[in-house]
Amino acid sequence: MRDLKEIVRDIPDFPKEGIVFKDITPLLKDPEAFAKIIDVIADKYAENGVDVVIGAEARGFILGAAIAYRLKAGFVPARKPGKLPHTVTKAEYELEYGIDSLEVHEDAITRHQRVLIVDDVLATGGTAKAKAELVGQLGGTVVGIAFLIELAFLGGRSKLGDFNVFSLITYE
Ligand code: AMP
Repeated sequence: MRDLKEIVRDIPDFPKEGIVFKDITPLLKDPEAFAKIIDVIADKYAENGVDVVIGAEARGFILGAAIAYRLKAGFVPARKPGKLPHTVTKAEYELEYGIDSLEVHEDAITRHQRVLIVDDVLATGGTAKAKAELVGQLGGTVVGIAFLIELAFLGGRSKLGDFNVFSLITYE
């Protein structure tokens, strides 16, 4: 199998000038590569007693749901405001310009459940931090935060403090 890093596609200046977007769709459509990334992340947490995986739309759904299935855990979608139909709890995070937020159903996680946070890319760490806050608001315990890709040069890991952070592919 080709090196995973070679399969990720760089799209310069997307969605705006100066950003190099890490396009994971070539990796998702490759049966071997897709199975490998899910297996490696799931195996890492196999002994951690994960009850629930949380992922944010849209790529966090794809990776998170597959990892949850492998771990025999549940899956909780974190969504942009106004998308979830039932009562929600919310956490805000900073964007380059302004503030955005993520919501989960307030009954999505119960007290003391062990939660794995999953996303495709760790950039500044803001969205992962917001997901950790959502888990905390509902009384869950974050057992880890797993990323397919870490853009280490953006220093997002430092925003995630003492959490157990894992990434499969790192760009220094
Ligand atoms: P951040 O909150 O800055 O860590 O941003 C993480 C979120 O933005 C993730 O959900 C990513 O999907 C997305 N993201 C940020 N930067 C990139 C990038 N260079 N390529 C692809 N996705 C990115």
